[in-house]
Amino acid sequence: MADDHHGGELDEMTARTKALEEQLVARGLVDPAALDRIVERYEHEIGPHNGARVVARSWLDPEFRAWLERDATAAVASMGYAGRQGEHLVAVWNTDQVHNLVVCTLCSCYPWPVLGLPPVWYKSPAYRAKAVRDPRGVLADFGHTLPDHTQIRVWDSTAEVRYLVIPERPAGTDGLGEEELAALVTRDSMIGTDPLTGGGS
Ligand code: FE
Repeated sequence: MADDHHGGELDEMTARTKALEEQLVARGLVDPAALDRIVERYEHEIGPHNGARVVARSWLDPEFRAWLERDATAAVASMGYAGRQGEHLVAVWNTDQVHNLVVCTLCSCYPWPVLGLPPVWYKSPAYRAKAVRDPRGVLADFGHTLPDHTQIRVWDSTAEVRYLVIPERPAGTDGLGEEELAALVTRDSMIGTDPLTGGGS
């Protein structure tokens, strides 16, 4: 395989899936509507709201947070979020000192079970290049400015390791429950292009 690091799994999988789908439909073995429901599942059921609940729970439950730090794949699977592209998950925490930004420099590796399918910009060559070269500029493109003292750490997602950013819990959210907190967590905050707390907007 040309790219062992990332495996080119998205392109290969897309091609394989399409070929398989055509065969199955042509032979009357599969109902296109059923396939649509699978796609819909990825679009609606498996999405950033899963990751948002993981983040909210980590804010509320120190034991869960410790588990997430130790073995994010298992901690996340305990909430029912597991499967393809979710193996070897690693959670990274934003603090006042460090802001984390996730990219896949070579393709579009992304933690599907917690974030769903990646947004178009995540797959774009422009984002992939600029995230490494000028992460502060990427944040600015998204309308956010981090304090000068905050270091930006860039993580390169691969087929081996997929990163989930745990943003800082916003101020003034004491007393909120898991559902209410999860509603505050954006997809971009779990990729790192939205600081969630402060940083302009
Ligand atoms: Fe990749």
